[in-house]
Amino acid sequence: MLEATDCMRRSAAVETHPDQQIGKYASHPGGKTNTCDRCPRLATFRAVNSKRYPTFHNAPVSSEGARSAGVWLVGLAPGMKGANRTGRPFFGDASGSLVRHLLAQTGIAYPGRCRLSNIVRCVPPENRPIPAEIAACAPFLAADCPDDSTLRAVLALGREAHMAVLRRFGKSPAVHPFRHGAMVDLSDNATLIASYHCSRRNLNIGRVTVADLEAVFATAAGMVGCGPRC
Ligand code: SF4
Repeated sequence: MLEATDCMRRSAAVETHPDQQIGKYASHPGGKTNTCDRCPRLATFRAVNSKRYPTFHNAPVSSEGARSAGVWLVGLAPGMKGANRTGRPFFGDASGSLVRHLLAQTGIAYPGRCRLSNIVRCVPPENRPIPAEIAACAPFLAADCPDDSTLRAVLALGREAHMAVLRRFGKSPAVHPFRHGAMVDLSDNATLIASYHCSRRNLNIGRVTVADLEAVFATAAGMVGCGPRC
């Protein structure tokens, strides 16, 4: 079992190549043409960041991965120097590297197997979207869900993602409270798996360990019939 810092370091090393330098993803196909002003606070924050970090993506970050995926990984929001920099969900910072490592380790990263989304597509101040912003972005999350016919596992990272996914499937968060490892049937075919977010803070304070995260990723992998060697 890897320690958090080792895991993040190893993952970062795997992903480091010249194209990952700041600014290389500013024209990601998800794109800068992809804009939205439904959240005034976040639109203002994007504008401020565009001046502060002109080479960053600084726009709504689109979901990534196949519509026909069996696993839907749902996080909170782009990290300032992760997805907000690269334009790709879960890519470019330490927690994104850890997610990508866990996806690869469990076989979920195999092409076509996983779709990656955030419940809020724009970077929020201090990584904290407010409820109105989560509600405003909910239609995008709903539209980004993989096809019912192929979806088997939804891995929600964090309490807010857990609640947003429940609402997306017409389930009540009051009936299904958040608990790491809890599972909820969302449909005849798909199951929600709740997980603490893999943020550096959560790992540093011991709220969640890499082993805890490995366990929930392995559960999701099992739901699509894969493991480390598949
Ligand atoms: S968070 Fe979502 S709804 Fe709000 S401005 Fe960004 S894309 Fe639009």
